[in-house]
Amino acid sequence: MKLAGSMNRFAEIIVDISHEKVDRPFEYIVPDALSEEVRVGSQVEIPFGKGNKKIKGFVLNLKDEASFDPAKLKSIASVVPHSTSATGDMIALAYFIKTHYGSTMNQALKTVLPVKKSAAAVKETYVLQEASDEELEKAIDRYSKDKRSVAKLRLLKELRREKVLPADIVKDKLNISPSTISSLEKEGLIRKDVKENLRDVFDIKEKQNYTIQLNEGQQRIADDIWTRYENGDKRPSLIRGVTGSGKTEIYIELIDRVVKEGKQAVVLIPEIALTYQTVLRFYKKFGNRISVINSRLTNAQKHDQLEKARLGQVDIIIGPRSALFSPFPNLGIIIIDEEHEGTYKNENVPRYHSREVAEKRAAMSGGFLVLGSATPSVESYYKAEKGDYQLYDLDLRASGAKLPEVEVVDLREELTAGNRSIISRRLDELIVDRLNKQEQIILFINRRGYSSFVSCRSCGTALKCPHCDVSLKYHKNGKLMCHYCGYETPMVKTCPECGSKYIGTFGTGTQKVEEEINRLYPQAKTLRMDFDTTREKDGHEKILSAFADHQVDILIGTQMIVKGHDFANVTLVGILAADMSLYSGDYLAAERTFQLLTQAAGRAGRGKKEGNVVIQTYSPDNYSIRFGSKQDYKGFYDFEMAYRKMLGYPPVMNMLGILFASENEVHLSRQCNTISQVIDFKIQAKAKADPSKTPVQKIGPSEAPIARINDKYRKMIYLKSPVYQDLIDIKDSVENYMDENPDKNLDIIFDFSMMGSKEV
Ligand code: ADP
Ligand code: ZN
Ligand code: ZN
Repeated sequence: MKLAGSMNRFAEIIVDISHEKVDRPFEYIVPDALSEEVRVGSQVEIPFGKGNKKIKGFVLNLKDEASFDPAKLKSIASVVPHSTSATGDMIALAYFIKTHYGSTMNQALKTVLPVKKSAAAVKETYVLQEASDEELEKAIDRYSKDKRSVAKLRLLKELRREKVLPADIVKDKLNISPSTISSLEKEGLIRKDVKENLRDVFDIKEKQNYTIQLNEGQQRIADDIWTRYENGDKRPSLIRGVTGSGKTEIYIELIDRVVKEGKQAVVLIPEIALTYQTVLRFYKKFGNRISVINSRLTNAQKHDQLEKARLGQVDIIIGPRSALFSPFPNLGIIIIDEEHEGTYKNENVPRYHSREVAEKRAAMSGGFLVLGSATPSVESYYKAEKGDYQLYDLDLRASGAKLPEVEVVDLREELTAGNRSIISRRLDELIVDRLNKQEQIILFINRRGYSSFVSCRSCGTALKCPHCDVSLKYHKNGKLMCHYCGYETPMVKTCPECGSKYIGTFGTGTQKVEEEINRLYPQAKTLRMDFDTTREKDGHEKILSAFADHQVDILIGTQMIVKGHDFANVTLVGILAADMSLYSGDYLAAERTFQLLTQAAGRAGRGKKEGNVVIQTYSPDNYSIRFGSKQDYKGFYDFEMAYRKMLGYPPVMNMLGILFASENEVHLSRQCNTISQVIDFKIQAKAKADPSKTPVQKIGPSEAPIARINDKYRKMIYLKSPVYQDLIDIKDSVENYMDENPDKNLDIIFDFSMMGSKEV
């Protein structure tokens, strides 16, 4: 045992965080007099260089032993008073990320600190209501009687609702021509303005009255979360509320209270759900105190938004994952909407999970964390069951709309009955019915381009990427593509193995489905939404807008279409091959399938008309499909947990995957075996130290699920333990071993929440 006085005697300090080489901090002694005050993230004064000039630095790390001769080290001079600055907080957070997920301090700092660069702000054009409300009403009346003025009418009605609209929305979503706009401008009904962002536009008009009275269920939840916060209950809250139950209104209410206390808020939303409509609701309530981050911003723009947070120019930042690192001085609340989303897991090193980092950040700042989802991750729900999170339920839609009726169709029976189409007889019947009624349809395919791989019917050869261990996908432009490294090659005419000309694509990619639908229902207008059709700027918004405006009858797409928008006129959702996501081969497959089915079904019947959902599947008895079709979250959860308990998967056990990659296959094997021994040694040492504990379990080394990417071979070692710290200790011992035995020809990646979101 160490003496209390001997702990954390040394500090690693960086003097300039904008410097590239933060990996090489300086070591200082923590004098006894300061040992209480000095923390990771503290700003301190230190004597520096030959002249011992006093300069300021941040504490990156504290440790018991020095790496150099302590006799040659200098001491920290003082702690800067009130030095728990936003920057210090971010450094402490980076330190947490580094130790928790495995990365260098440099990588962790780059994750939490915004890239330092400034550039001219990009300006956007807005269309605003210029006339008084009364004049606008009159104009709307006038144009309602004139058949040739439908475009003008459309814009004026939209402006009556929103007061201000981005010009590109007016053009693309409302289909308003420049001449219509200038004509209305001449009449003095509207005007155009160029501003840096929406909030500047709201500066001109007064903040709008945003008054939605919370219903009883919403009010009860908001009040309880707030009371717990005031009473110092630090546990995160998890709101499980069906789609459309009014979770967003609860967030807005809580943020309002936090801001009134002089504190700030971060709202995380998956990029895909970060639509104009969602953001506008926040703008209406909070006006110019908001900033939004999205993937379309340049690094410089992003940096500017975060700078506004640091300087107190905004109180609320909305955005995907990285908004979590908004350097607010006094963060009061973090909200994570759609908390089950895979995108909250960072797929690059450090492979952190936003939920865990948010929990840490909230704890550091004394704020509180609120998670919301219609289908919470099994992990979060488990925490709620254990009492680590407080659970709240919202079972009804705020609008009073009913949840849709769901039917399951067994595709095996379709085949027996002689129906070889991708559309079952029941779904066909409903599609025809809705097309006749002028109602809209969403057809959902579980995975982009799944099994659009090319194989030979004579010899069975499947065409593979020459650099990766995956099948090439056929694209309609006549090319074969690798989705992992970008390799492209023209489609072949004959089998490269046997020369047979019976080579082609099988299964149901989105393109194939669209072709088939156009053949079956030539009278219907269709649109496809997938990775390929949304690559261009605003691709999402354009497709969704065309659909919302009913320019299209059937929207065909991948998981992208199940999020975000409300389409009041959609009364039928068809899920074409519900089982596909069951075969992705990792332990999250069932959970992901259940979430997708529930969210997709939630798209039907959002308006006044009731909706139908048809789930087509080859495995109607699979529990994720059974519970998904009944929208029975708890039923699914109980079943899934029993399964994970039996197999020792998270959240019952903690899991660490270590991925090794190298261009040299023999070298890879040799190194994996050596490191595997290092791990065995550590496991044995742990078992010896405390024989009563469940030992860490090791699986592998074995081939990674994808054994080669970009010409690098890949192997994995999996570790399981009921104790998270045991896995961190093993990660540390591997890191130490690699520090002592550097290897340029080997990449190592640690992954604490396995597999995450990546579409495989
Ligand atoms: P969620 O975030 O759970 O999907 P929203 O907060 O987006 O739900 O609410 C769904 C719809 O119901 C929105 O159009 C919202 O304006 C409306 N709504 C929510 N709460 C209320 C309420 N208390 N009174 C009236 N309308 C509400
Ligand atoms: Zn062949
Ligand atoms: Zn490839």
